[in-house]
Amino acid sequence: MKRILAANWKMHKTSAEARSFLAAFMPLLPEFSSDIEIIIAAPFTALAAMRAELGHDSRILLAAQNVNSHPFGAYTGEISLPMLAEFGVTHVILGHSERRMIFGETDASVNEKTRAVLAAKMTPIIAMGETREERDAGLTHERVMSQARAALAGLSPTDVARTILAYEPIWAIGTGLNCAVADADAAMAAIRNAVDGLASVPILYGGSMKPENVKTYLGAPQIAGGLIGGASLDVASFAEMLRNAV
Ligand code: PEP
Repeated sequence: MKRILAANWKMHKTSAEARSFLAAFMPLLPEFSSDIEIIIAAPFTALAAMRAELGHDSRILLAAQNVNSHPFGAYTGEISLPMLAEFGVTHVILGHSERRMIFGETDASVNEKTRAVLAAKMTPIIAMGETREERDAGLTHERVMSQARAALAGLSPTDVARTILAYEPIWAIGTGLNCAVADADAAMAAIRNAVDGLASVPILYGGSMKPENVKTYLGAPQIAGGLIGGASLDVASFAEMLRNAV
């Protein structure tokens, strides 16, 4: 099965830093199994420099970490899908918990953006996950199923099948705390059963994935790959994850 390792650089790396990352990382590509799809979600401002460094038929796919659903207009400070298309962006992360919690992203806006990304022939990577309190209250499955239904509401099963989902327990993001593999697998099975068309959609795990635990996660039946924050920022650790993923 094709695996996906997606780096989420968040608000890290200037264009110059992104270029140096690629200059060190690209020579390592032949070491990584061709069964792994490599995606890097970089800050908007680094995308042009990265495309220049990668060329046009690179094995590394470029992603954005957010987008506005309108193609253009009076939306000060926003970035549109045609702007991303200029740099050959193929994927867009939507609904990351940091965007939901810090920037007021809602289930409804994630749904609107999902439709726009699909209409632009790109792939949304839709993130969902429960808080610590929701987990402790036994609400994990209910929470993620409702986020999946809301994000995919009104989409045809064919469009649903063009998405990638990411299960990211919020309490495990950037904390060094890991969700037990069996718990992550069960949450993903719940997500898969929530909406028609998800049967073969890749679901990534995110939450303190590291070189030393990537293989264990990827061994679980539902886990198709990882969405990786902190451990993707450093060439050596991201490369180690790619080596350990198979
Ligand atoms: C993330 O930001 O999506 C993430 C999973 O971060 P980290 O790997 O640092 O927990």
